[in-house]
Amino acid sequence: MPKRCCVPGCKGNYEAELRSTPYRSVFRFPKNEELKSKWLASIPRKDWSPSKDSVVCDAHFQQAEIVRTETYVLQDGSANTVTLSRPKLSEGAVPSVFPNVPSYLSKRQVSSRTDPAIRQDPSKA
Ligand SMILES: [Zn+2]
Repeated sequence: MPKRCCVPGCKGNYEAELRSTPYRSVFRFPKNEELKSKWLASIPRKDWSPSKDSVVCDAHFQQAEIVRTETYVLQDGSANTVTLSRPKLSEGAVPSVFPNVPSYLSKRQVSSRTDPAIRQDPSKA
């Protein structure tokens, strides 16, 4: 069963399940802690940490960061390029494309947010 992308607003995987469109590649969080923290800083999701099953789909990476083929050099010097059945990420790739994220999530939270209690004060209406 395909895992669902953890990015808020991303419907890539859901659509793939519903319409049997070509299966979207998903990538697990990197084991490297430094890179993982870059992913977390980049993904617009609050108060959340990934589980070992959390994945990010290929919609959030630059095409250049997704390795879909691998080239082997044969003994006679010629190159043999094969398409990977499971694409992988280039080294140090960080998700950076978030097309469907609600704007309030994609911005860094500023501290000037109005307290709802103040906003709803009936004496000011
Ligand atoms: Zn996604």
